[in-house]
Amino acid sequence: MTISLNEDTAVDARLVALLDQLTLEEKVLVLTGHDFWATWPLPKIGLRRILVSDGPSGVRGEVWDERSPSLNLPSSTALGASWDPAIARRYGNVAAVEARRKGVDVVLGPTINLHRSPLGGRHFECFSEDPILTAKLASAYVTGVQENGVGATPKHYIANDFETDRFTANVVVADRTLRELYLLAFEEAIVDAGAWLVMSSYNSVNGPTVTENELLETPLNSEWGFDGVVISDWTAVRSIESARHSQDLVMPGPAGPWGDTLVAAVLAGEVDEAQVDGKVLRLLGLAARVGALDGFEAAVPLPVVVEDGIRFAREAAIAGAVLVRNDGELPWAAERLTKVAVIGHNAKFARTQGGGSATVLPEHVVTPLDGLIAALPNAEVTYSVGAVVQEGIAEFPLSTIENPVTGEPGARVRFLDAAGVELFSEDRRASALVWFGGDAPIAASSVLEFTTRYTPEESGEVLIGFASVGNGRIFIDGELRHEASAEAVGTDLGAAFLSPPSVTVDLAVEAGVPIDVKIEYDVVPDFLGGALAITVGIEPDLSHPEALIEEAAAAAAAADVVVLVVGTNSKVESEGFDRTSLDLPGRQDELVRAVAAANPRTVVVVNAGSPVLMPWRNDVSAVLLSWFGGQEYGDAVAAILLGESEPGGRLPSTWPVTLEDVPVFDVTPVDGVVRYDEGIHIGYRAWLKAGTEPAYEFGHGLGYTEWTLDDLSLDRLYVAPEENGADTVAVTVGLTNTGDRAGKQVVQVYASRAESAIDRPVRWLVGFAAVHAEAGESVVASILVPARAFADWQDGWHFEPGDFRLEAGTSVSALPLGATVTVR
Ligand code: BGC
Repeated sequence: MTISLNEDTAVDARLVALLDQLTLEEKVLVLTGHDFWATWPLPKIGLRRILVSDGPSGVRGEVWDERSPSLNLPSSTALGASWDPAIARRYGNVAAVEARRKGVDVVLGPTINLHRSPLGGRHFECFSEDPILTAKLASAYVTGVQENGVGATPKHYIANDFETDRFTANVVVADRTLRELYLLAFEEAIVDAGAWLVMSSYNSVNGPTVTENELLETPLNSEWGFDGVVISDWTAVRSIESARHSQDLVMPGPAGPWGDTLVAAVLAGEVDEAQVDGKVLRLLGLAARVGALDGFEAAVPLPVVVEDGIRFAREAAIAGAVLVRNDGELPWAAERLTKVAVIGHNAKFARTQGGGSATVLPEHVVTPLDGLIAALPNAEVTYSVGAVVQEGIAEFPLSTIENPVTGEPGARVRFLDAAGVELFSEDRRASALVWFGGDAPIAASSVLEFTTRYTPEESGEVLIGFASVGNGRIFIDGELRHEASAEAVGTDLGAAFLSPPSVTVDLAVEAGVPIDVKIEYDVVPDFLGGALAITVGIEPDLSHPEALIEEAAAAAAAADVVVLVVGTNSKVESEGFDRTSLDLPGRQDELVRAVAAANPRTVVVVNAGSPVLMPWRNDVSAVLLSWFGGQEYGDAVAAILLGESEPGGRLPSTWPVTLEDVPVFDVTPVDGVVRYDEGIHIGYRAWLKAGTEPAYEFGHGLGYTEWTLDDLSLDRLYVAPEENGADTVAVTVGLTNTGDRAGKQVVQVYASRAESAIDRPVRWLVGFAAVHAEAGESVVASILVPARAFADWQDGWHFEPGDFRLEAGTSVSALPLGATVTVR
């Protein structure tokens, strides 16, 4: 029998020999996960389990547990904004080192769906609205992970660019659009970086759900030569039909739709055993690569590119921060500041990552307030919250809770059976807890009991309680104060799980006087296959919004300068739901106006993973988009504001003035269908077509120095895709840093075609390069543009002969240099 991983790759005969030792039952067994995060071991052939983990902005590891912390890197939009494949590669390197530290073989990332709409709930987790920028960064990320011996998993293949009804929505999209946008974003990570896995998405595309879709075979296996494992998104495989397609591995396990049903289907001749064999061989191939198969040396036995992850997290946050406006205010000289007003909920309670499966638990987080206090030892730094951003329960700060059993900071958690007998207990150092795999006997438990002693920092009325889906009781100082059930909002189980509603009681507390808090939560054993999540803590006080704004404005008036951090919260940006608005939550717009009126030297720092509306943007001195900046976030912000570092980012997606202006924003299925009818016109392509001015255009971003773009030259004036050696154009752009400090510039090259028989974007990105130069230095940016950049899809790549214009500059609408290339 000839079995191949795909049509072109002969399979290692030794893998086939191992396959031949397996019974049909064993083969089928390993094609569904052993549990939430691992595959089945088969000691008989020397196969150990393969451990996978989210991803993509850090590696959580096998447990979701603050006692096993992870490095929290800046969110993917920050990486997208770096426009720098070298940073993306190091990001992958660092993630792989984390993975190995945690015994993880495969990172479930990068997430490289496109920013089709700014309302997309996982926008923060993706790179860009542009397929080429996404593709280059994704391929560098994959290279970075895999060159350190860990598998990378570009996800979610394919057209999974929104969250509403994500399990069932059918995306209707033309082939050309798929090829030129959504598939293009994945192609380089497979073809050039050779990803070891790809994750198939939940949605359907043009009818069949992706796990039963021909798109898994073509172009992935057949044209791109993918020889790795197609791992399903969690619970995305729902049928035997998927076993007949190029879906290899079902996650999670051990239950799933294949198992005995697949064995029976093979025996009945309904599924060809060769198909099962092909999947098992791919899995064995992956095991060999990651060193999980006896007798096979891992592709990279030890990590080879290792650097300090914490330093890198800070550097990546700086490299991705985008200064969209600066009226000359920044950078500040630290020694000239005597009094700085730091304002904003997110300045003290920063969001360093988006919500959902991407969440990791960092050992520490540097907030902007922490970063500024540390960087300004000689200045007085005041803090005002200004406006509440948080919605629902937030966990207790660790410094305010004590485990009543150990006396250490934290809480005691017990799992009890129906008779109240303790089955399991643990001491935790947090009050936001998730069990997703791990040792807790959730299925056997009836009640989870959480106890802690909380010492308030301030006196007043607080709302205390829990957030989780299901029924619970709140006890204060031993007395039952409230029992209630929280219903899931929406139909997405993942969202219900990780962004649940709150149940609270009203309580008068006194600063420094401890209270005993006990929550009894009735465990729902079948919910999400035995997973459980609960957050115990405090809901914000929303009763005096005007007073908060007034206090902040007074603090602003009394300071030399103001750092006002605005942002989103976990109810706005998280997996499992889309956004319904681009407005900043709460009274933040009013806050900015009041503060800017009180002090003209107000700099706004935006702590959001995706676009928000900034109606006040022209009334403040500077606006820095700092994304979800990872655990070193506040240090990075301080370094930028105080001029120690230059903000290195450029917008990876267009930021609108209003939601109504956004040309493509719909994310809600109609009768189960989302139509990508805008075709190839998303992001800046759609903005240019509509002729509407955004707030800030694609590619835009300011540094602290000045540049001139001097000249552009091409190594040839034509491309001839059929002619050997004439299928790329090397674009060389000379530029000079004319300012008085070192800086970074991102040179962007766009193509356009004036007269064309084909519907094309007004212009489209074909290449870019990040360059650095000292003050006064001239440098050269070299950008290789492949012939494919001029092609369009018509049942195959098609080249319209004639002239194309190439333009180079620093954003999609600042393009001073140009030249013409002819396609022969
Ligand atoms: C997400 C994936 C993730 C998986 C495992 C799914 O809900 O869509 O991105 O890798 O869960 O956590």
